[in-house]
Amino acid sequence: MNKPSRILVLGTGGTIAGAGAGGTGAAYRPGGLSLEVLVGHLAALGLAVELVPQEIARIGSQDIGFAEWQALHAACAGAMEDPAVDAVIITHGTDTAEETGLLLDLTLPTTKPVILVGAMRPADAVGADGMRNFANAVKVASDAAASGRGVMLVMGDAVLAARDARKAATSAIDAFRTFPRGPLARVTPASLDWFGPAHSVGALARYPFPAELPRVAILTAGAGMDAKPVEALLGIGARGIVLAGMGQGNAPKVVLEALAACAASGVPVVRAARVDEGLVDRNVEVDDDALGLVAARALGPAKARVLLMVLVANGVTDAKVVQAAFDAG
Ligand code: GLU
Repeated sequence: MNKPSRILVLGTGGTIAGAGAGGTGAAYRPGGLSLEVLVGHLAALGLAVELVPQEIARIGSQDIGFAEWQALHAACAGAMEDPAVDAVIITHGTDTAEETGLLLDLTLPTTKPVILVGAMRPADAVGADGMRNFANAVKVASDAAASGRGVMLVMGDAVLAARDARKAATSAIDAFRTFPRGPLARVTPASLDWFGPAHSVGALARYPFPAELPRVAILTAGAGMDAKPVEALLGIGARGIVLAGMGQGNAPKVVLEALAACAASGVPVVRAARVDEGLVDRNVEVDDDALGLVAARALGPAKARVLLMVLVANGVTDAKVVQAAFDAG
């Protein structure tokens, strides 16, 4: 019989570790359960793996920021080097799972599987989905074909590439969508079906993990707005701006002109869409070439902000180079 996989479990909190006053989960506290208690629940599932818990935080993922990202990155990078660890699972709130997932995807090599897992219902609520999702994540983490696929998110019997995943529902159990690609695999505790081969086995990290993250703001466009919010963002020292634009990344003419002035002054501007799904391509309705703007392509505003933060932190602000990074997904 093969040796059971040794999986590092990094706990951050979230609903998967949530506990409430009543059994319905109508009100609860994300991260109410310690990782020790959570791993105790997992042990009761009888999974044939060795879980090594390491608590990074016990918070709702709305409060995750640079300190937690740095700790997660260091722990994952250590696991990549440690021959005794086969894979990493990160228990995480769903609100910002797409941001943590993309940041790690951009800054880790793809040597071993790194899997985020969350839940939509707290651990002590009726119909809780956390243990099922965790058992699925273990199934993925233990699979020899899971390496070289970038950071993944396991939710609701689906395996999603972190760079494609986004939260699209506030409370439904099937809350995540994936774009432009579909799920990488379907998973249950009994089966795992990959839909294609791994694309980057053993690839190096695309970017070094930043020493600090610059202020990059998301500006949501609305009908009838003026350019004052753009001026305000420059006034607080924004080093990059992501437009969550109407339709295919649109904004009123005065706003686009103000954003073009930002770009000309060395503050890169990326046009994403406030629409839930779809590509934002260059020079379709907005003349990106003339205005010096970047099209976010498949990344929504939250993930576009993460990529732009990493780029600016690594000294990349030239619109053509920023565009090439967004074109690469
Ligand atoms: N807001 C909390 C968080 O993101 C709860 C949502 C969840 O985990 O599903 O951690």
